[in-house]
This record gives sequence, C-alpha cells and structure tokens, in this order.
Amino acid sequence: MASNVEQPEAPHKNFDTILVLDFGSQYTHLITRRLREINVLAELLPCTTKLADLPFKPKGIILSGGPYSVYEKDAPHVDPAFFELPNTPVLGVCYGLQELAWRLSPENVVAGTEREYGQADVTAQRHGGHVDKLFDGLEDAMQVYMSHGDRLSQLPEGFCTIATTTNSPYAGIAHKEKNIYGIQFHPEVTHTPKGKDLLRNFAVKICGAKQNWSMSNFCDQEIARIRNLIGPTAQVIGAVSGGVDSTVGAKLLKNAIGDRFHAVLIDNGVMRHNECQQVKETLAKHLGISLTVVDASERFLGALKGVEDSEKKRKIIGGLFIDLFEEEAIRIEKEAENTPNAGKVEWFLQGTLYPDVIESISFKGPSATIKTHHNVGGLPQRMIDGQGLKLIEPLRELFKDEVRALGRELGIHEDLIMRHPFPGPGIAIRIIGEVTPERVRIARQADHIYVSMIREAGLYNKISQAYAGLDTNKAVGVMGDKRYEGYIIILRAVVTTDFMTAEPYPFSMEFLCELSRRIVNEVEGISLVTYNVTSKPPGTIELQ
Ligand code: GLN
Repeated sequence: MASNVEQPEAPHKNFDTILVLDFGSQYTHLITRRLREINVLAELLPCTTKLADLPFKPKGIILSGGPYSVYEKDAPHVDPAFFELPNTPVLGVCYGLQELAWRLSPENVVAGTEREYGQADVTAQRHGGHVDKLFDGLEDAMQVYMSHGDRLSQLPEGFCTIATTTNSPYAGIAHKEKNIYGIQFHPEVTHTPKGKDLLRNFAVKICGAKQNWSMSNFCDQEIARIRNLIGPTAQVIGAVSGGVDSTVGAKLLKNAIGDRFHAVLIDNGVMRHNECQQVKETLAKHLGISLTVVDASERFLGALKGVEDSEKKRKIIGGLFIDLFEEEAIRIEKEAENTPNAGKVEWFLQGTLYPDVIESISFKGPSATIKTHHNVGGLPQRMIDGQGLKLIEPLRELFKDEVRALGRELGIHEDLIMRHPFPGPGIAIRIIGEVTPERVRIARQADHIYVSMIREAGLYNKISQAYAGLDTNKAVGVMGDKRYEGYIIILRAVVTTDFMTAEPYPFSMEFLCELSRRIVNEVEGISLVTYNVTSKPPGTIELQ
C-alpha cells in the first residue's frame, strides 16, 4: 500500500528540517511536536531509514529513545552514513545516546544496577567552547524526566561530560570536536520543564535551523502541493463527517482544486439529531463547500437488525460505507462526463493525523517502511485496493490541536473547530446491544438534550467529548403512580488533551439532577439516567 500513498516531501524544500529517527520510544512524536512549537519543521522516520533513501537533506538529526537495549542481539541501529553527513549535528536521546556510545565501543553501554524512572535533577557542566551550546542559557541545575535501565559505563572516546545526576555520571555528553551530543533524559516531555529550550538550542544554535515554519506557511504550502499533486483533471472524493479533521481536510482540497473536490456525507441512520442537515448547511455557509448527503439510513438500519455485538456492528457499518463510496465515485464520474470538470475520481481524502502515522511506523517485522493507517474512522480499504484510488492525507504531519490551528488559519468557524469528535459508526456503538430505530430515537433525543444543556451552561468547550449512550437492560421506575419499565441512559463527558487518557467532567450534582429530570420527562422510553464517572484507563471514552 505504501506506493499508493503520496509522500509529504515538499515542505522540506522550503523549511529547514530536523530529522528524527524513531527507535520506538513512546515519546518520539513529542520531539517533532516540540520542534514545530518553536517553528522548526521536523520529520519523523523509522530508525532503519537509510541515508541513501532520504528524499531531503536534514539540518540536524535526533536519535530517539526506545525500548531495546543497544547490546541486545536484535536491537536496531542507525545507518552509520548519517554521521558522515557534512554540517549535520546529531543529538541522541536516551537510547539514542546509548546508540552513539555503543557504536564507538560496545563496552560503553551496560545494564544499570538501578533503573531510573521519573524525576531527576541534572547539573550542567560547562567547559567553554561549542560543547556548552546544548545547555546554553539554561541554569546549571535542571529538573528532567528519566526512563532508562541501561547506562554508559564510561565516557566514549572523544567526548566530554556536559551534564550529570547523582545516578548518572554521563547524563549528558558532547563530542569535543564534532557536533555530536547525547542526553540520558527526555527533553520532549513536559516533565522536563526546560526541555523545549534545550531542543531549541540544538535545532537553532547548534544546527542553525531557521525558525520559519508556521501554520500559515504550512497552509499555503499544502494547498500548492495538493494542487500540483492532483494535476489539472483528476477528481477527489472525501468523506466528510462534520468533525474538525474532515472539515479542515475538505477546506484544503476545496482551496486547492475547487469543484473537482467532492465532499460526501453518508447518512447511516445513526447520526446525531439533525446532524446531516446541520453539517450540510454549515459547510455551504462557512466554507462554500457543497456537500452531498447520501441517505442510506434504511440500508444501514436494515443491516444492523438483530446484531448485538459491537465489533460486528462496526464491520457492517464499515462495509456498507465502502459500497456507498464506490457507488458515489461512479456517480461523480458519470455526472461530470460532459462538464468542464470531467475526469477520473483518482484520489480519496483521508483525515489521518500524525499520531495515526506514528502508530503505524514499525522498524521490526518484514517491512521497515512507513505503513499508513487506513480505516481511520472506518474508511474504505476495499474501495482503495479495488479501484486503485490513491490516498491523500494532508494532515498526516499534524496533531489534533495543530489541525485546529490550521482550521483557524483557513478561516473555519470556531464552532466547527471545537466540535467534539464523533465516531465513524455513530450512535450505533453508543447503544449497547441491538440498534433498532426505536433505540436510536431514544439515544438521539437524550443526546440532543444533554449536549444542548452543556452548551447552554457554557461548558461545551471545557469538555472534550460528551454523549448519551443507551444500556441494553431496562429498569423499573414509577410514573404517574404506575410501574414503568424504561431504558437506562448512560451519560459520558470527559476531559482530555490527547484522548489517550481522560477524566470524567465534574458536573455539579444540581446540573446532573436537572439533566436527569429533563431527559426522563422529555424522552419517552427512559426510566433511569446514570453518569459514567470512570476515567480512561481503565474505561474508554466510547461505550464499546
Ligand atoms: N531501553 C533503554 C534503557 O532502558 C533505553 C530507554 C529509553 O530510550 N527510554 O536504558
């Protein structure tokens, strides 16, 4: 599949780029992010990347941390050619530092007797000269985050010590002549408060990278690149959901190729209250994008009949999406036949974000290439394979909040930018058990009241994601002095920055009671309202 995916190489022509070679640390992606925060473009590639295959000349190289021990039999190692690149400084972080030392002599790295996890205090050692540049402008004493079991047993030849901790005499090293540096701690995490300054020292003072990367540069750059890539006649189809990623992607495509971009929203019958209509209107009004809504609710609800298992539901919905996009691509080509827009639908827009790309980078196993994360939001693998549609992923270098910043750059309305994420399979996975039209109605109405009340209370932007789900079981209640069996609503509202961990939003009891009162009174079929207070982990954000 890799050949089907356009490679984002163009930005490197205009911006100095720091290459980050990934050895598999959980924090690698944060290195690239911190660099972008200081307006330096960073590209992350697997540690197995060969210099000969690199499509650009990096301004500097960072070797990331990683789970392996450099002395292990199968441990990954960097292509030595990177060290021969003229005027290209190298910074090794944790495993990266150990890799630098191990290359010079395997005896330089040993298993430590004590593992060091968490906070540590480093002391910078100054020598005069270039080796001081990494800690330039920083205080001698610095709080850092460590996560390692191995350590350097001795100073590698040609190096001097530029930082120590009580447990790590070689917490930072620098080559006395060459621009090669290594640190045992992680500068990329927020637990190293001055880490960003240290990365700036490396990128700007040591590598000489220009700090000219910005969202607005990125925006112009991307639009020009997309236009060029698609060429003068091809058409692009994109699944638009009303979420921020697909909206920003759609706006970029619209700006790049105008009406040859076709935004499609498939109404699967499990969208939120009035959602399809609202998304259509908002896109037309704010973005000038004419959205085709394909009403396939009966097909979806028919296929979901009697299905209780959530994985089965996902598969059914994903499969039908594929069929419908295939039909749409054919319809678009036919309709355009005798118009100035006539051309093949060659591309499929996908809102893949950077974390998805990172997740699918692997340096082990049969292939050492970047594999693109397909099926984000249940997207059509079969369609892409079968019809040879090429993927276009303009957001694949960005994190969620960066996508939001790009959206603002594109003039997208704040309401759209701050919209809570909504899963591809929609309300179907917020209903535990069978998805019937009646149960969809109940969940949808409850959700509408819930989210409206959150908006009215001014809490919408304080919460990352909120929805009403439905339990399979019924509960006994009493209404009008009569026994009444109704469904159980499970409300969820979480706060999170990265959606990897999340906390429940602390509503006031008064607000929760008012919610319950309104939902039970206004939605027929409910006898009990609960609020899910489980954090993630161990819970998840959605119900299934
Ligand atoms: N696995 C190596 C160690 O334990 C490197 C760890 C890291 O890069 N975080 O020392």
